[in-house]
Amino acid sequence: MFIENRKNELIYMTSDRIPARHAFTTRFGGVSTGYLASLNLGEHRGDAPENVRENYRRAGGILGVGADDFVISKQVHKTEVRVCSAADRHTVNTDVTYEANGLVTSVRALPLMIFIADCVPVLLHDPAAGVAAAVHCGWRSSVGDILGEAVRKMTALGARPEDIRAAIGPSIGFDHFEVGPEVPEAVTAYLSGDTDGLFRSEANGKTLVDLRGANARRLAQLGVLPENVDVSAECTMCSPDKYWSHRVTGGVRGSQCAMIILD
Ligand SMILES: [Zn+2]
Repeated sequence: MFIENRKNELIYMTSDRIPARHAFTTRFGGVSTGYLASLNLGEHRGDAPENVRENYRRAGGILGVGADDFVISKQVHKTEVRVCSAADRHTVNTDVTYEANGLVTSVRALPLMIFIADCVPVLLHDPAAGVAAAVHCGWRSSVGDILGEAVRKMTALGARPEDIRAAIGPSIGFDHFEVGPEVPEAVTAYLSGDTDGLFRSEANGKTLVDLRGANARRLAQLGVLPENVDVSAECTMCSPDKYWSHRVTGGVRGSQCAMIILD
């Protein structure tokens, strides 16, 4: 179950399936103004650097860390998953040297952060082994099997699929992810045909795809137990006041994040 939390002016979501400190942020609780109001965590969205830094400081407050403690990455729509160490901590408003669409760590007190604005954020946590991951699942990285890559890297650090908890956060919903034939075709190949209930045909010839459901299906194929997977019911396009939506804003927007830290 996803829960809405309030801390000062911040509003953020958590899942009761993940025992580690974590959060899916919303637009609420930051200092940015205009089209970036108010909790923008994107450093390349046209925001004032001092506003971005204050927003990171506030986001860090959710996990009990500082603005410059996070590990982030240059996100691309590929399937690169980086195993992170303390050397990867990012100083706000400086360049990140590496590309990755997913972050994995077994290092304690090292917060991982990925950015989203319609794409599907997935947080993974094996509390027994002490391994966490934050994964950015757009449709291209999803069908490229970034979740398989993340689970393999977690397993290499000692995690076991049957111990992994997963939270699939607020993102574009089944009702809004309208696509041409290439997406359902790719999802069908990705899931080896196990797509019952994930597609809905529309009168205009397009197809609606349940991208969160597809990622949940893939986690089951990877050995993650269904009872350990939590799926948010919130659609970013249906709630543009609460969440940044790339499609609703035409790309003129800030970024929210999903973050997790091991105790
Ligand atoms: Zn929607």
